[in-house]
Amino acid sequence: MGAEVLQTSIDNLEGVGASRAKLLARELGITTYADLLYYFPYKYIDKSKFYTINQICSTEASVQVKGIIVSKKLLGQGVKQRLVFTLQDNTGCIDIVFLKGLKWIENSLQVGKEYVIFGKPSQFNGYFSFLHPEFELAAKHEAHATEKFHPLYNTTEKMKNAYLNSKKISLLMHNLLEKVVGNIPETLPKYIIQQNNLMSLNRSLIEIHFPSSVENLDKAKLRLKFEELFFLQLEHNYEKVRRNEKVEGFIFDKIGDNFNNFYKKNLKFELTSAQKRVVKEIRNDMRSSRQMNRLLQGDVGSGKTLVALLSMLIALDNGYQAALLAPTEVLATQHYNSICKSLKGLNINVALLLGSVKGKARKNILSNLQEGSLHIIIGTHALLEDSVVFHNLGLAVIDEQHRFGVEQRSKMWTKNKQKPPHILVMTATPIPRTLAMTLYGDLDYSVIDELPKGRKPIQTTHFYDRDVLKMYGVMRRLIQQGRQVYVVYPLINESESLDLKYLMDGFEQLSREFPTPEYQISIVHGQMKSDAKEYEMQRFSKGISHIMVATTVIEVGVDVSNATLMIIENSERFGLSQLHQLRGRVGRGAEQSYCILRTKDELNAEQKRRIDIMCSTNDGFVLAEEDLKMRGPGSISGTQQSGVLNLKLADIVKDEPIVRRARDFASAIISADPTLSHPDNLLLKTYIQKQQPLKDYSQIG
Ligand code: ADP
Ligand code: MG
Repeated sequence: MGAEVLQTSIDNLEGVGASRAKLLARELGITTYADLLYYFPYKYIDKSKFYTINQICSTEASVQVKGIIVSKKLLGQGVKQRLVFTLQDNTGCIDIVFLKGLKWIENSLQVGKEYVIFGKPSQFNGYFSFLHPEFELAAKHEAHATEKFHPLYNTTEKMKNAYLNSKKISLLMHNLLEKVVGNIPETLPKYIIQQNNLMSLNRSLIEIHFPSSVENLDKAKLRLKFEELFFLQLEHNYEKVRRNEKVEGFIFDKIGDNFNNFYKKNLKFELTSAQKRVVKEIRNDMRSSRQMNRLLQGDVGSGKTLVALLSMLIALDNGYQAALLAPTEVLATQHYNSICKSLKGLNINVALLLGSVKGKARKNILSNLQEGSLHIIIGTHALLEDSVVFHNLGLAVIDEQHRFGVEQRSKMWTKNKQKPPHILVMTATPIPRTLAMTLYGDLDYSVIDELPKGRKPIQTTHFYDRDVLKMYGVMRRLIQQGRQVYVVYPLINESESLDLKYLMDGFEQLSREFPTPEYQISIVHGQMKSDAKEYEMQRFSKGISHIMVATTVIEVGVDVSNATLMIIENSERFGLSQLHQLRGRVGRGAEQSYCILRTKDELNAEQKRRIDIMCSTNDGFVLAEEDLKMRGPGSISGTQQSGVLNLKLADIVKDEPIVRRARDFASAIISADPTLSHPDNLLLKTYIQKQQPLKDYSQIG
């Protein structure tokens, strides 16, 4: 028996029949031995210690005691009937009470024998007792006394109904480990294990399910976390090096009329020095003969879009097309409008392709794109469809990448027949360094760490729901000064229609407070048709409507510089980075801008703290770090779809030291042995080769 045993179908395991196999597959995605083996407990019950009966003094924690059953009584009548045993050790006695399954219990617990009891004590009339505890004959218990910690596994309701509970899973795990221990091949080379003082894989997998001590559990977890993070980083590093070596990129060494005319004639302001630096980095990539894969980070409003536009113009100057992929129709439309405006008079053809563009209009765009008369195409994921064929795509910009998966990125790669286009990925909100490292380790990294001059920091204030009149006052005053206001409602996702009702209620209230014809209110939400949305967006950006009521569809990218007040309703429901992203919709012009974070009247300490942080800083990187610390990587908007959350054990915040170590190790290995050809690295090579060959351009092209 060798490594292949792990690929055995789970129904071969003792205790798993056809129906349980089906259940495991459907509920947990477990189909093989390996899947089950890597289904880790979410916590452990510590049975490493016995309490004496006189030590029982709390009902807080489950405890384990050992004693002899000295009596048995059946008390009460009918439904009140109960079975009471008395357990005795050399410090005292305690009652064990059962209300259900009396017949079975009566035969299972015998007077005069010694048992191990485990459960949470209850307290009644000042006396402690156990109600329905787990019990086992002491003699039997000793036979497997090495398993001092009992694993608890997550199970679903359906599984529990089929008696596939945590305990059953741990039994299956037992059977499985018996079968496979010794046949689990080591995945890390010896030198890595030695230099990092890691536990072997075999041992770790035993210890993680059935720890022999706290120390060993910690070591097992460390090993498995390290491995998880290490392979992620190894893949990134390997990818990057191989791409640099193998994948040729277009050489864009010209700066021509498109770039220069735009820069000299159309650009109304000086680039910030951060923007200049980043444009230079991108330019160097694009003329280096390597294919660019670069991540562009920058705080909201730092001018990423402008950098993207300049990069696209370089592609055009070298005779190639450029594409800009945006996550929503609203944002794509916004980009289209602002880019058309920026490029006015420059004789550059730009088109917008949304899913909703159909018929002749679509056909036109597609044929112009294919024959090359279209220079820049902007759109949503509609751009990824196979029917979208480019004449020669030189640069693909993916805006707010976190909304897309890695697959979309690789799909853009295939959009060109000769060579893959250069790729520039922009994030919507800043991502903390550790997270970026884990998420985008395979990309080069640029950051715009400076806002354009003359921006006044947005003033943020916390308003409770009860401050509604004060809020109307602020709105009225700003509107009188000619400014515009956003009012944003959260998507709660409990139910779309409920969310919508919420928004509509808010809209109606505002309509009463700010009646036509004096005031105009626009509304935009996800369930509107895109032309209706577009119409409302236009009304607002042209300054016709004073107030824009919206869901978070306006979260990304929307840019109306005359809007200087952002009101976020129920802001206690948003994460910090999302609040920051929303807030960034204002503060784009020279006027002083404001943000009102409205919350329910009663906040808990954590909610209050988060609102206070928002009021005290405008720095997106600081907020993202906070968010990551307080709420984990899932809170950084959009990472939900990324692999980071698929990490089984590692937590990139809590385990940051391991993240760093794994990264340093992986990058040292790849720089010393870029092709992983050294015999010592055989296992690593094997791992890499097993991963998706999707990323290999030569195979997709
Ligand atoms: P984001 O990084 O959030 O995508 P944008 O690219 O949308 O930011 O830029 C925000 C606003 O700042 C836009 O109105 C843009 O025209 C303007 N802007 C960008 N760069 C500069 C600059 N160097 N000086 C002044 N305004 C700028
Ligand atoms: Mg943007």
